[in-house]
Amino acid sequence: MDHFAFLLPSTMILFAITFLAVGWSGPKSARAWGLAFLFGALGFIAPILPLPFALQSLLANAAFLVSFYCYGDALLLHFRAPRMIAPRIIFALLAYAMVIVAVEGFASLPLELTVADISVAILLGVPLASVIWRAHTLPDRVLVAVAGIVVLDIIVRLFIFNVLVGISPALSDFAASSYAYYNQVAVGVLSVGFALAAMGSIVSQMLAGYRSAAERDPLTGLLNRRGFDAVAAPMTPMGQGAAILLVDVDRFKLINDDFGHEAGDLVLAGLADILRSILPGTAVISRFGGEEFAVLIPRLSMAEAGALAHGIRLACSERDWRLCGVDRLVTLCVGVSLVLSEEPNWKAAFKRADSALYAAKDDGRDRVMFAKPDAYLAIERAA
Ligand code: GH3
Ligand code: MG
Ligand code: MG
Repeated sequence: MDHFAFLLPSTMILFAITFLAVGWSGPKSARAWGLAFLFGALGFIAPILPLPFALQSLLANAAFLVSFYCYGDALLLHFRAPRMIAPRIIFALLAYAMVIVAVEGFASLPLELTVADISVAILLGVPLASVIWRAHTLPDRVLVAVAGIVVLDIIVRLFIFNVLVGISPALSDFAASSYAYYNQVAVGVLSVGFALAAMGSIVSQMLAGYRSAAERDPLTGLLNRRGFDAVAAPMTPMGQGAAILLVDVDRFKLINDDFGHEAGDLVLAGLADILRSILPGTAVISRFGGEEFAVLIPRLSMAEAGALAHGIRLACSERDWRLCGVDRLVTLCVGVSLVLSEEPNWKAAFKRADSALYAAKDDGRDRVMFAKPDAYLAIERAA
Protein backbone atom coordinates (compact mmCIF):
# COMPACT_ATOMS: atom_id res chain seq x y z
CA MET A 1 0.00 0.00 0.00
CA ASP A 2 2.82 2.40 0.84
CA HIS A 3 4.73 1.78 -2.38
CA PHE A 4 1.50 2.02 -4.21
CA ALA A 5 0.85 5.41 -2.61
CA PHE A 6 4.04 6.78 -4.19
CA LEU A 7 3.57 5.04 -7.52
CA LEU A 8 0.46 6.97 -8.51
CA PRO A 9 1.74 10.51 -7.87
CA SER A 10 5.08 9.68 -9.49
CA THR A 11 3.33 8.43 -12.63
CA MET A 12 1.16 11.52 -12.68
CA ILE A 13 4.18 13.80 -12.27
CA LEU A 14 5.82 12.06 -15.24
CA PHE A 15 2.67 12.69 -17.27
CA ALA A 16 2.66 16.30 -16.10
CA ILE A 17 6.28 16.84 -17.17
CA THR A 18 5.61 15.24 -20.56
CA PHE A 19 2.52 17.36 -21.23
CA LEU A 20 4.18 20.56 -20.01
CA ALA A 21 7.16 19.86 -22.28
CA VAL A 22 4.84 19.30 -25.26
CA GLY A 23 2.87 22.40 -24.35
CA TRP A 24 5.98 24.55 -23.92
CA SER A 25 6.01 25.45 -27.59
CA GLY A 26 2.95 23.45 -28.56
CA PRO A 27 -0.79 23.57 -28.00
CA LYS A 28 -2.22 25.32 -24.94
CA SER A 29 -4.31 22.25 -24.18
CA ALA A 30 -1.10 20.29 -23.50
CA ARG A 31 -0.16 22.83 -20.81
CA ALA A 32 -3.60 22.41 -19.25
CA TRP A 33 -3.22 18.60 -19.24
CA GLY A 34 0.20 19.08 -17.64
CA LEU A 35 -1.18 21.26 -14.83
CA ALA A 36 -4.10 18.85 -14.36
CA PHE A 37 -1.77 15.90 -13.81
CA LEU A 38 0.58 17.97 -11.64
CA PHE A 39 -2.21 19.02 -9.27
CA GLY A 40 -3.66 15.51 -9.42
CA ALA A 41 -0.30 14.23 -8.18
CA LEU A 42 -0.31 16.83 -5.37
CA GLY A 43 -3.75 15.62 -4.37
CA PHE A 44 -2.41 12.09 -3.92
CA ILE A 45 0.74 13.29 -2.14
CA ALA A 46 -1.18 15.33 0.46
CA PRO A 47 -2.45 12.30 2.49
CA ILE A 48 1.11 10.98 2.88
CA LEU A 49 2.52 14.29 4.13
CA PRO A 50 3.22 14.56 7.90
CA LEU A 51 0.33 16.95 8.54
CA PRO A 52 -2.84 16.95 10.64
CA PHE A 53 -5.64 15.01 8.94
CA ALA A 54 -7.82 18.06 8.43
CA LEU A 55 -4.98 19.92 6.73
CA GLN A 56 -4.15 16.90 4.55
CA SER A 57 -7.74 16.77 3.52
CA LEU A 58 -7.99 20.50 2.74
CA LEU A 59 -4.76 20.40 0.74
CA ALA A 60 -5.80 17.31 -1.20
CA ASN A 61 -9.20 18.75 -2.01
CA ALA A 62 -7.74 22.07 -3.18
CA ALA A 63 -5.33 20.18 -5.43
CA PHE A 64 -8.08 17.96 -6.88
CA LEU A 65 -10.38 20.92 -7.57
CA VAL A 66 -7.57 22.74 -9.42
CA SER A 67 -6.68 19.51 -11.20
CA PHE A 68 -10.22 18.90 -12.46
CA TYR A 69 -10.63 22.55 -13.38
CA CYS A 70 -7.54 22.05 -15.57
CA TYR A 71 -8.84 18.77 -17.07
CA GLY A 72 -11.99 20.64 -18.06
CA ASP A 73 -9.90 23.49 -19.41
CA ALA A 74 -7.77 21.06 -21.43
CA LEU A 75 -10.88 19.58 -23.05
CA LEU A 76 -12.33 23.01 -23.84
CA LEU A 77 -9.01 24.20 -25.28
CA HIS A 78 -8.49 21.04 -27.29
CA PHE A 79 -11.93 21.24 -28.89
CA ARG A 80 -11.84 25.05 -29.20
CA ALA A 81 -15.02 25.38 -27.18
CA PRO A 82 -15.98 28.46 -25.08
CA ARG A 83 -13.82 28.40 -21.94
CA MET A 84 -16.52 29.42 -19.37
CA ILE A 85 -13.63 30.52 -17.14
CA ALA A 86 -15.50 32.71 -14.64
CA PRO A 87 -18.40 30.30 -13.92
CA ARG A 88 -16.02 27.37 -13.55
CA ILE A 89 -13.73 29.26 -11.15
CA ILE A 90 -16.68 30.50 -9.09
CA PHE A 91 -18.06 26.96 -8.95
CA ALA A 92 -14.69 25.59 -7.83
CA LEU A 93 -14.41 28.24 -5.08
CA LEU A 94 -17.93 27.51 -3.83
CA ALA A 95 -17.16 23.80 -3.86
CA TYR A 96 -14.03 24.44 -1.82
CA ALA A 97 -15.99 26.51 0.69
CA MET A 98 -18.34 23.54 1.12
CA VAL A 99 -15.39 21.18 1.55
CA ILE A 100 -14.06 23.45 4.32
CA VAL A 101 -17.43 23.32 6.04
CA ALA A 102 -17.49 19.52 5.76
CA VAL A 103 -13.94 19.17 7.11
CA GLU A 104 -13.76 21.96 9.70
CA GLY A 105 -17.42 22.30 10.60
CA PHE A 106 -18.61 18.67 10.56
CA ALA A 107 -15.28 16.81 10.53
CA SER A 108 -17.17 14.29 8.44
CA LEU A 109 -15.33 12.11 5.92
CA PRO A 110 -18.46 10.94 4.03
CA LEU A 111 -19.69 14.53 3.67
CA GLU A 112 -16.28 15.74 2.55
CA LEU A 113 -15.94 12.94 -0.06
CA THR A 114 -19.46 13.52 -1.32
CA VAL A 115 -18.97 17.25 -1.78
CA ALA A 116 -15.50 16.86 -3.29
CA ASP A 117 -16.38 14.00 -5.65
CA ILE A 118 -19.56 15.60 -6.95
CA SER A 119 -17.68 18.86 -7.50
CA VAL A 120 -14.81 17.35 -9.47
CA ALA A 121 -17.28 15.27 -11.49
CA ILE A 122 -19.07 18.50 -12.43
CA LEU A 123 -15.80 20.35 -13.15
CA LEU A 124 -14.94 17.68 -15.72
CA GLY A 125 -18.45 16.61 -16.73
CA VAL A 126 -19.78 20.03 -17.80
CA PRO A 127 -16.87 20.81 -20.17
CA LEU A 128 -17.09 17.22 -21.43
CA ALA A 129 -20.80 17.62 -22.22
CA SER A 130 -20.08 20.83 -24.10
CA VAL A 131 -17.40 19.29 -26.35
CA ILE A 132 -18.80 15.82 -26.96
CA TRP A 133 -20.30 16.76 -30.35
CA ARG A 134 -17.06 18.30 -31.49
CA ALA A 135 -15.22 14.97 -31.41
CA HIS A 136 -15.07 13.81 -35.01
CA THR A 137 -11.76 11.99 -35.31
CA LEU A 138 -11.10 8.60 -33.75
CA PRO A 139 -8.51 9.89 -31.23
CA ASP A 140 -10.92 12.67 -30.17
CA ARG A 141 -13.76 10.17 -29.73
CA VAL A 142 -11.52 7.94 -27.63
CA LEU A 143 -10.60 10.98 -25.53
CA VAL A 144 -14.20 11.97 -24.78
CA ALA A 145 -15.06 8.33 -24.09
CA VAL A 146 -12.23 8.04 -21.55
CA ALA A 147 -13.20 11.38 -19.99
CA GLY A 148 -16.76 10.03 -19.73
CA ILE A 149 -15.49 6.90 -17.97
CA VAL A 150 -13.51 9.08 -15.53
CA VAL A 151 -16.66 11.04 -14.62
CA LEU A 152 -18.71 7.85 -14.37
CA ASP A 153 -16.07 6.21 -12.17
CA ILE A 154 -16.20 9.10 -9.69
CA ILE A 155 -20.00 8.97 -9.42
CA VAL A 156 -20.22 5.15 -9.24
CA ARG A 157 -17.38 4.95 -6.69
CA LEU A 158 -19.02 7.58 -4.52
CA PHE A 159 -22.36 5.76 -4.72
CA ILE A 160 -20.89 2.32 -3.94
CA PHE A 161 -18.79 3.42 -1.01
CA ASN A 162 -20.90 6.16 0.47
CA VAL A 163 -24.35 4.64 0.00
CA LEU A 164 -23.85 0.87 -0.32
CA VAL A 165 -20.67 0.09 1.65
CA GLY A 166 -20.56 3.06 3.99
CA ILE A 167 -17.55 5.17 4.90
CA SER A 168 -16.15 5.61 8.34
CA PRO A 169 -17.08 9.12 9.52
CA ALA A 170 -13.63 10.07 10.83
CA LEU A 171 -11.26 12.05 8.61
CA SER A 172 -8.31 10.15 10.09
CA ASP A 173 -9.63 6.89 8.64
CA PHE A 174 -9.27 8.05 5.05
CA ALA A 175 -5.78 6.74 4.25
CA ALA A 176 -6.61 3.22 5.46
CA SER A 177 -10.13 3.12 4.02
CA SER A 178 -11.17 0.73 1.28
CA TYR A 179 -12.44 3.82 -0.51
CA ALA A 180 -8.92 5.27 -0.62
CA TYR A 181 -7.53 1.94 -1.81
CA TYR A 182 -10.06 1.54 -4.59
CA ASN A 183 -9.61 5.22 -5.45
CA GLN A 184 -5.89 4.68 -6.01
CA VAL A 185 -6.43 1.63 -8.18
CA ALA A 186 -9.14 3.26 -10.29
CA VAL A 187 -7.35 6.58 -10.64
CA GLY A 188 -4.08 4.78 -11.36
CA VAL A 189 -5.60 2.89 -14.28
CA LEU A 190 -7.77 5.75 -15.51
CA SER A 191 -5.06 8.40 -15.38
CA VAL A 192 -2.85 6.26 -17.62
CA GLY A 193 -5.76 5.86 -20.03
CA PHE A 194 -6.64 9.54 -19.79
CA ALA A 195 -3.03 10.62 -20.42
CA LEU A 196 -2.63 8.30 -23.41
CA ALA A 197 -5.95 9.37 -24.91
CA ALA A 198 -5.10 13.06 -24.42
CA MET A 199 -1.64 12.62 -25.92
CA GLY A 200 -3.14 10.74 -28.89
CA SER A 201 -5.59 13.56 -29.52
CA ILE A 202 -2.92 16.25 -29.22
CA VAL A 203 -0.55 14.44 -31.57
CA SER A 204 -3.25 13.81 -34.16
CA GLN A 205 -4.40 17.44 -33.94
CA MET A 206 -0.83 18.70 -34.38
CA LEU A 207 -0.28 16.39 -37.36
CA ALA A 208 -3.52 17.62 -38.94
CA GLY A 209 -2.31 21.19 -38.42
CA TYR A 210 1.03 20.52 -40.09
CA ARG A 211 -0.69 18.70 -42.92
CA SER A 212 -3.06 21.57 -43.58
CA ALA A 213 -0.16 24.06 -43.41
CA ALA A 214 1.70 21.96 -45.97
CA GLU A 215 -1.34 22.04 -48.24
CA ARG A 216 -2.01 25.79 -48.07
CA ASP A 217 -0.43 28.78 -49.70
CA PRO A 218 0.33 31.35 -46.99
CA LEU A 219 0.04 34.39 -49.30
CA THR A 220 -3.51 33.77 -50.50
CA GLY A 221 -4.81 31.26 -47.96
CA LEU A 222 -5.85 29.05 -50.86
CA LEU A 223 -4.85 25.42 -51.29
CA ASN A 224 -1.48 24.97 -52.95
CA ARG A 225 -0.75 22.41 -55.64
CA ARG A 226 -0.33 19.60 -53.14
CA GLY A 227 -3.58 20.60 -51.44
CA PHE A 228 -5.40 20.72 -54.77
CA ASP A 229 -4.20 17.19 -55.58
CA ALA A 230 -5.20 15.95 -52.12
CA VAL A 231 -8.69 17.47 -52.17
CA ALA A 232 -9.46 16.80 -55.83
CA ALA A 233 -8.26 13.17 -55.87
CA PRO A 234 -11.06 11.73 -53.67
CA MET A 235 -13.60 13.57 -55.84
CA THR A 236 -12.82 11.24 -58.77
CA PRO A 237 -14.45 9.78 -60.74
CA MET A 238 -16.38 12.97 -61.26
CA GLY A 239 -19.68 11.33 -62.12
CA GLN A 240 -22.01 14.06 -63.27
CA GLY A 241 -19.19 16.09 -64.76
CA ALA A 242 -16.91 18.71 -63.33
CA ALA A 243 -15.27 21.80 -64.73
CA ILE A 244 -11.63 22.81 -64.55
CA LEU A 245 -10.71 26.50 -64.71
CA LEU A 246 -7.09 27.54 -65.06
CA VAL A 247 -6.59 31.23 -64.38
CA ASP A 248 -3.33 32.98 -65.29
CA VAL A 249 -2.55 36.68 -64.92
CA ASP A 250 -1.49 38.40 -68.14
CA ARG A 251 2.03 39.84 -68.23
CA PHE A 252 2.39 39.44 -64.51
CA LYS A 253 6.15 39.65 -64.80
CA LEU A 254 5.73 43.25 -65.99
CA ILE A 255 3.58 44.08 -62.94
CA ASN A 256 6.41 42.85 -60.73
CA ASP A 257 9.00 44.69 -62.78
CA ASP A 258 7.11 48.00 -62.86
CA PHE A 259 5.44 48.13 -59.43
CA GLY A 260 7.55 45.81 -57.32
CA HIS A 261 7.22 42.27 -56.04
CA GLU A 262 5.15 43.34 -53.03
CA ALA A 263 2.54 44.98 -55.25
CA GLY A 264 2.55 41.75 -57.27
CA ASP A 265 1.87 39.81 -54.08
CA LEU A 266 -1.08 42.09 -53.26
CA VAL A 267 -2.52 41.48 -56.72
CA LEU A 268 -2.29 37.72 -56.16
CA ALA A 269 -4.04 38.04 -52.79
CA GLY A 270 -6.71 40.26 -54.39
CA LEU A 271 -7.23 37.76 -57.15
CA ALA A 272 -7.68 35.01 -54.56
CA ASP A 273 -10.43 37.16 -52.97
CA ILE A 274 -12.12 37.53 -56.37
CA LEU A 275 -12.04 33.75 -56.89
CA ARG A 276 -13.45 33.07 -53.43
CA SER A 277 -16.25 35.60 -53.87
CA ILE A 278 -17.33 34.52 -57.36
CA LEU A 279 -16.93 30.74 -57.26
CA PRO A 280 -19.49 28.46 -55.58
CA GLY A 281 -18.79 26.84 -52.21
CA THR A 282 -18.28 23.47 -53.91
CA ALA A 283 -15.28 24.80 -55.86
CA VAL A 284 -11.81 23.53 -55.00
CA ILE A 285 -9.70 26.67 -55.47
CA SER A 286 -5.93 26.58 -55.48
CA ARG A 287 -2.93 28.72 -56.23
CA PHE A 288 -1.35 26.08 -58.40
CA GLY A 289 1.93 27.92 -58.81
CA GLY A 290 3.29 31.42 -59.34
CA GLU A 291 0.46 33.55 -60.74
CA GLU A 292 -1.61 30.61 -61.89
CA PHE A 293 -4.77 29.42 -60.14
CA ALA A 294 -6.45 26.05 -60.72
CA VAL A 295 -10.11 25.52 -59.86
CA LEU A 296 -12.17 22.35 -59.92
CA ILE A 297 -15.95 22.70 -59.67
CA PRO A 298 -18.09 19.57 -59.45
CA ARG A 299 -21.37 19.20 -61.36
CA LEU A 300 -21.06 22.10 -63.76
CA SER A 301 -22.14 22.52 -67.37
CA MET A 302 -20.02 24.18 -70.01
CA ALA A 303 -22.30 27.21 -70.04
CA GLU A 304 -22.10 27.62 -66.26
CA ALA A 305 -18.31 27.19 -66.28
CA GLY A 306 -18.01 29.77 -69.06
CA ALA A 307 -20.16 32.26 -67.16
CA LEU A 308 -18.05 31.85 -64.00
CA ALA A 309 -14.83 32.23 -65.99
CA HIS A 310 -16.14 35.44 -67.55
CA GLY A 311 -17.18 36.72 -64.16
CA ILE A 312 -13.63 36.21 -62.92
CA ARG A 313 -12.10 37.84 -66.00
CA LEU A 314 -14.35 40.90 -65.71
CA ALA A 315 -13.95 41.26 -61.94
CA CYS A 316 -10.19 41.36 -62.44
CA SER A 317 -10.06 43.73 -65.39
CA GLU A 318 -12.63 46.11 -63.88
CA ARG A 319 -11.04 46.25 -60.45
CA ASP A 320 -9.13 49.33 -59.35
CA TRP A 321 -5.76 47.83 -58.47
CA ARG A 322 -4.29 51.18 -57.37
CA LEU A 323 -5.11 50.11 -53.79
CA CYS A 324 -2.47 47.44 -54.32
CA GLY A 325 -0.03 49.95 -55.73
CA VAL A 326 -0.63 48.91 -59.32
CA ASP A 327 -1.63 51.85 -61.53
CA ARG A 328 -2.59 49.69 -64.49
CA LEU A 329 -5.31 47.40 -65.78
CA VAL A 330 -4.73 43.85 -64.66
CA THR A 331 -6.14 41.25 -67.03
CA LEU A 332 -6.10 37.49 -67.02
CA CYS A 333 -6.86 34.50 -69.17
CA VAL A 334 -8.95 31.49 -68.21
CA GLY A 335 -8.68 28.07 -69.82
CA VAL A 336 -11.85 26.05 -69.23
CA SER A 337 -12.53 22.35 -69.75
CA LEU A 338 -14.99 19.73 -68.60
CA VAL A 339 -14.08 16.35 -67.17
CA LEU A 340 -15.72 13.86 -69.54
CA SER A 341 -17.94 11.15 -68.10
CA GLU A 342 -15.66 8.38 -69.41
CA GLU A 343 -12.54 9.91 -67.84
CA PRO A 344 -11.35 8.34 -64.59
CA ASN A 345 -10.04 11.60 -63.10
CA TRP A 346 -9.42 15.28 -63.76
CA LYS A 347 -5.89 15.01 -65.16
CA ALA A 348 -6.73 14.91 -68.87
CA ALA A 349 -9.22 17.76 -68.45
CA PHE A 350 -6.51 19.73 -66.65
CA LYS A 351 -4.21 19.31 -69.66
CA ARG A 352 -6.98 20.49 -71.99
CA ALA A 353 -7.64 23.53 -69.80
CA ASP A 354 -3.90 24.27 -69.84
CA SER A 355 -3.80 24.10 -73.64
CA ALA A 356 -6.88 26.32 -73.78
CA LEU A 357 -5.11 28.79 -71.52
CA TYR A 358 -2.16 28.95 -73.92
CA ALA A 359 -4.56 29.37 -76.81
CA ALA A 360 -6.14 32.30 -74.93
CA LYS A 361 -2.69 33.89 -74.49
CA ASP A 362 -1.93 33.38 -78.19
CA ASP A 363 -5.26 34.88 -79.10
CA GLY A 364 -4.31 38.19 -77.47
CA ARG A 365 -4.90 37.74 -73.68
CA ASP A 366 -7.80 38.99 -71.48
CA ARG A 367 -9.75 36.00 -72.77
CA VAL A 368 -11.66 32.91 -71.73
CA MET A 369 -11.03 29.88 -73.89
CA PHE A 370 -12.94 26.63 -73.70
CA ALA A 371 -11.21 23.37 -74.56
CA LYS A 372 -13.09 20.67 -76.37
CA PRO A 373 -11.24 17.37 -76.68
CA ASP A 374 -10.23 18.23 -80.24
CA ALA A 375 -10.49 22.03 -80.57
CA TYR A 376 -10.71 25.34 -78.74
CA LEU A 377 -13.65 27.60 -78.58
CA ALA A 378 -13.28 31.23 -77.66
CA ILE A 379 -16.17 32.14 -75.40
CA GLU A 380 -17.34 35.66 -76.03
CA ARG A 381 -18.16 38.05 -73.26
CA ALA A 382 -21.16 36.72 -71.38
CA ALA A 383 -24.41 38.63 -71.87
P1 GH3 B 1 1.76 35.70 -69.52
O1 GH3 B 1 0.79 36.77 -69.86
O2 GH3 B 1 2.25 34.96 -70.69
O3 GH3 B 1 1.21 34.78 -68.46
O4 GH3 B 1 3.04 36.44 -68.91
P2 GH3 B 1 3.50 36.47 -67.42
O5 GH3 B 1 4.51 37.54 -67.26
O6 GH3 B 1 2.33 36.55 -66.54
O7 GH3 B 1 4.10 35.02 -67.24
P3 GH3 B 1 5.54 34.54 -66.78
O8 GH3 B 1 5.37 33.07 -66.52
O9 GH3 B 1 6.58 34.95 -67.79
O10 GH3 B 1 5.84 35.28 -65.44
C1 GH3 B 1 5.23 34.95 -64.26
C2 GH3 B 1 5.82 35.82 -63.21
O11 GH3 B 1 5.17 35.60 -61.96
C3 GH3 B 1 7.29 35.56 -62.98
C4 GH3 B 1 7.45 35.55 -61.48
O12 GH3 B 1 8.41 36.48 -61.06
C5 GH3 B 1 6.09 35.99 -60.97
N1 GH3 B 1 5.76 35.35 -59.71
C6 GH3 B 1 5.68 34.03 -59.43
N2 GH3 B 1 5.35 33.84 -58.14
C7 GH3 B 1 5.20 35.07 -57.59
C8 GH3 B 1 4.86 35.54 -56.28
O13 GH3 B 1 4.62 34.77 -55.34
N3 GH3 B 1 4.81 36.87 -56.06
C9 GH3 B 1 5.08 37.76 -57.09
N4 GH3 B 1 5.01 39.06 -56.81
N5 GH3 B 1 5.42 37.35 -58.32
C10 GH3 B 1 5.47 36.03 -58.57
MG1 MG C 1 0.91 34.98 -66.51
MG1 MG D 1 1.96 31.63 -65.58
